[in-house]
This record gives sequence, C-alpha cells and structure tokens, in this order.
Amino acid sequence: METNDKIINGKIHADNLLKKIYPLSVDYIKKYSKKPTLAVVLIGNDPASEVYVKNKIITANKNNINSLKITFSNEVYENILLDKIIELNNNPDVHGILVQLPLPKHISEKLVIQTINPEKDVDGFHPTNYGNLFMGSPSFIPCTPLGCFYMLKKEIPDLTGKNAVIIGRSNIVGKPMASLLLSSNCTVTIAHSKTINLIETCKKADILIAAIGKPEMINEDYIKKNAIIIDVGINRIEQNDLSIKNNKSKLVGDVNYNKVFDIVDKITPVPGGVGPMTIACLMHNTLKAAFLNKKDPFINILESM
Ligand code: NAD
Repeated sequence: METNDKIINGKIHADNLLKKIYPLSVDYIKKYSKKPTLAVVLIGNDPASEVYVKNKIITANKNNINSLKITFSNEVYENILLDKIIELNNNPDVHGILVQLPLPKHISEKLVIQTINPEKDVDGFHPTNYGNLFMGSPSFIPCTPLGCFYMLKKEIPDLTGKNAVIIGRSNIVGKPMASLLLSSNCTVTIAHSKTINLIETCKKADILIAAIGKPEMINEDYIKKNAIIIDVGINRIEQNDLSIKNNKSKLVGDVNYNKVFDIVDKITPVPGGVGPMTIACLMHNTLKAAFLNKKDPFINILESM
C-alpha cells in the first residue's frame, strides 16, 4: 500500500463535502434572496476558542454563509447570555446558532444549550436533537462525530460487523460517535478513564476512535494490525527541537502517529484530519437549518451516502 493511501485526508474530504454544499447555498440565495446565516457566540478570550471561531467564520464566508459574531467578556452574567440566545432564536434572519464551548465556570452549559431553539441548534447538542440521534432519526448531529463518521463511510462504505472502540465518553464526541457507529451495525465499545485493561480493549478494535485529550497517548501497544484510526484529539505541545525557528509549540493528536503508522490500515493525521471535517459539517448543518426554516426539504449528507 502506498503511504498516502493510508492517510485519511480530512482536508480533501472536507473540500469534497463543501463542493457539494456550495451549489445548495447558491440555490438558497436564488430562492429566498438572502444568505443562510450562522450566529457564533464567543465568551471570553480563550486562544483556542478564538482560533476555532475564526476558522468557522472564514469557512462560512467562503461558502456563501453569512456569519454573525457575538462576543462577551469572560465575566458576562448568565442571564445576559441567555437573553441574547433568545433574541437570536426570535430573529428570522438567523438560521443557526453556535455557542463556542467551553464556557466560563459561572455559566451553566446545560442551560445555555437548552435555551437554543432546537431548529437552530447546528451543534446538535440540544436534548431534542441528541435524543433524536439516539432514537435513530437524527436531525442535527454534532459536527465532530458527524465528520468522523462521514470520513469512515467514505473509506469503508460497509461498516457492518466491525468492532469499533471509542476512547472518550464526552457528550460532544464519544457518545454521539457511538450512536452513529451503532446505526451502521458496528459492535461498539466506549472506553474511558476508568476502563480496566484499556490496551486489551483497544487491541480488539477494527476501528479505533481516540477522543481523549491526552497528547500521543495511544501507541503501537494499543493497535490491532490493520486497524482504522480516527484521531479526534487536538493537543498543543511544546517542541524541544530548537533548530525550528519561531515554532515553540505544535499540534498533535491523542495517537502517536509515527509509532502506529506501519501497523494501521488507515489513519487521520493531526492537523488535517478531523478538524477540517468538523467545520465542513457545521456548514452542512447551517445550510440544513436554513432550508428547514423555510420548510424546504434538505437531503443531508448521511441520507445521500
Ligand atoms: P473531554 O475531556 O470531554 O473527554 C475526554 C474523555 O477521555 C473522557 O470521557 C475521559 O473519560 C477520557 N479519558 C481521559 N483520560 C483517559 C485515559 N487515560 N484513558 C482512557 N480514557 C481517558 O474531551 P472531548 O471534548 O471529548 O475532546 C477530546 C479531544 O478531542 C480533545 O483533545 C479535544 O481538543 C478534541 N476535540 C477535537 C475536535 C475537532 O474538531 N477535531 C472537536 C472536539 C474535541
């Protein structure tokens, strides 16, 4: 196998998805004389969140999607934030609402998510959308697991019977990922920080999804030969290589890419794997929200696969 055939290139998958989305946004503008609009709410000045929001807005602008950036200081009162969400819910020109997580400690994430109108919940975290996903009739699917699932289905159209192990049980990644894989007839295990014999569990995986937040924790000991690896982790680590100028830190995943590369069948790199797909799926969900707002049917990417 060529080295490149092993790499699941998230950038290419994302570009292909965006190519499908773009003409739909053109149709929307022709039909309704306005652009689909995404409101992005950013609280505080966490550098990672600022970068994520910036990238989401750049991609929206490139894809005919209007973006509305609303910023609050870290000290904003919870009720002020909730009032803003209600205002966005009631604004007919806003189709999708995203509140960038994590939130400052004094604000209830649960309350914020529950306040977003489920029909504008492009992140798919509202209990209605979350419940629909687990009931097998998904409406808005959280963008990161949707992006992982999209790449997997493109690489292996039939996932039936595969042993899938997800490391991480977060609401944002691990749990919805499990639901998607289950719906594709995988046998699914969710492992987490209290799992006993994590290595043995992972070694049984035909498909291993790492969503841990621990830089390069997964090495060759965890991998079954010819497994497919989706590395969701984004971790910034200090670089010790002083020969690299102006480059004090670098991004790595939860998987030690170099150590597992020869064993795996396919793997997503970090950066350039899951990250670009997450943003492409946000564009997909925003367009979907805009069409649904007009009671106009929208064929979502999973139905068209
Ligand atoms: P989280 O902190 O909410 O969850 C981490 C999970 O990992 C937990 O369920 C925990 O039980 C498990 N875990 C922690 N230590 C473990 C250990 N030693 N062994 C086994 N399991 C362990 O994190 P999250 O929000 O799910 O994100 C996970 C990673 O994915 C982070 O690096 C995050 O930055 C990244 N992420 C990337 C994207 C993207 O677009 N690429 C999106 C969301 C999250």
